[in-house]
Amino acid sequence: MGNIAAIPKCFYCQEDKNEILIAESLRTDMSVYHMKVCDIVPCANCEALMGRGVILITVDGAKSEDGWYQPRYYNKRRSSDPDVLIPPNPYRTGGWFVVSDDFVARAFDTISEQVLRYRWSFIEHAAAEHLGLFAESERMNKEKEKNA
Ligand SMILES: [Zn+2]
Repeated sequence: MGNIAAIPKCFYCQEDKNEILIAESLRTDMSVYHMKVCDIVPCANCEALMGRGVILITVDGAKSEDGWYQPRYYNKRRSSDPDVLIPPNPYRTGGWFVVSDDFVARAFDTISEQVLRYRWSFIEHAAAEHLGLFAESERMNKEKEKNA
């Protein structure tokens, strides 16, 4: 028998979620879900951040799996099962920012409406650098240290 419970990770911040998944049957091994991203429902912290701004996560498309941005679904066991999206998993480069809606409207141009609706987006590392996100977050961290 495997584990009958698992603690999943948040898709956005990749921290442990404050939730426990319990197997529907004792024969189900939940260890495959333990410490893994199982869905794209944000953790409480990310949900709060999405209420105040938009989360941007930096990625390197060249180092990511081909077609990572295309929607993929888990294999259904029965045709009546709902379509469940596999969370996209591009190569993350470590940049993680929360920006204002105004910033998104200016920086994302034609797709800004979509990004504002979803409250998060992946962004190419080079684009985040170009937009000054790393420099700004470094400046803010220095400011925080000074005032600590
Ligand atoms: Zn989170």
